Amino acid sequence: MARRRLESRGGLLADIQTAILTEPLDSLFHITEELGRGKFAVVKKCVEKATGKEFAAKFVRKRRRGRDCRADVIHELAVLEAACCNSRVINLHAAYENEHDIILLLEYAAGGEIFDHCVSDELLSESQIVRLIRQILEGVHLLHQSNIVHLDLKPQNILLTSLSPVGDIKIVDFGLARRLGTVGELREIVGTPEYVAPEILNYEPITTASDLWSVGVITYMLITGESPFAGEDKQQTFLNVSQVNVDYSREAFTRVSELAVHFIRKLLVKTPEDRPSAADCLSHPWLWQQYPGAELSPPAVPRVPRERSGGAKWASAPEDPEDKENILDSPQSKRSRFVIDEAHATRDSGV
Ligand code: ADP
Ligand code: MG
Repeated sequence: MARRRLESRGGLLADIQTAILTEPLDSLFHITEELGRGKFAVVKKCVEKATGKEFAAKFVRKRRRGRDCRADVIHELAVLEAACCNSRVINLHAAYENEHDIILLLEYAAGGEIFDHCVSDELLSESQIVRLIRQILEGVHLLHQSNIVHLDLKPQNILLTSLSPVGDIKIVDFGLARRLGTVGELREIVGTPEYVAPEILNYEPITTASDLWSVGVITYMLITGESPFAGEDKQQTFLNVSQVNVDYSREAFTRVSELAVHFIRKLLVKTPEDRPSAADCLSHPWLWQQYPGAELSPPAVPRVPRERSGGAKWASAPEDPEDKENILDSPQSKRSRFVIDEAHATRDSGV
């Protein structure tokens, strides 16, 4: 795709190249079952009549709470365009528009959400988790290289190309993504309480490190089947996040190597500057352990020199898991998202 000028308005992109088509979607596609929904979007499976090819159509509402939010949908489309070379991001095939919605026609991820593997009775094996986390980091690394932060990384927004065998990951849902580094600092309170980094709660500057926090939470959930910060209510969750109140004593940690706990501990740290970058994480020894019977392929992104710490980043031995009292007993099924700005606070109850 040709190089584009990417406009930024508070981290929002405005320039798109994709033509927005106006013919009715159902004239070209059979629209079938619902795949998922959020506060302002519903995603449906559809099959192209001419070719039989499957897609996922994300119908995103242009008007929300009486406001015209078309620019927000265009932003989501622009981010998908900007990430079109990133094989770990869902591919945008086309865009349509009707009176109420902009419809993003996306590659269909047939394997569903990795969330299902976090709440399943049968959790994934360590080698499978490692493979998925490596892929997530590859995708996040490429996004960060383009100065894009996702800001809503969570198991519901990481999909799989197939369910059995467990396929490759695809990152979706760029509605809250922002572009960094254009004008000044970006401060916003966006995200989903259980997955959001403490600096975002504190209205401190957003950086790429905020996404790495969420990768730590996702890793914890894939290993334990529990959400590390979820509390009885949002306030409790926020408190858990801001105190980095994590329980590493769970039984589930005994079935994985100590390096797994070491990896999570490096990400779930309060100070964003102390978190490793995605590139740093990709060289963590946990991700390159040999598992009997599991195939290891080289990373899809080139190893880049580590920015802050030189070669010593992962040199320290894994710490002993430390028993910490955890005040939460978390229902991991909470899927709410909040968006708060300085002037007024609004809460979306989410899916
Ligand atoms: P929202 O902004 O409302 O959270 P998402 O883009 O996250 O919307 O989509 C909602 C849900 O729809 C996802 O969590 C997932 O379950 C499903 N979904 C989204 N995109 C696809 C896709 N390309 N293929 C299959 N399912 C999808
Ligand atoms: Mg989502």
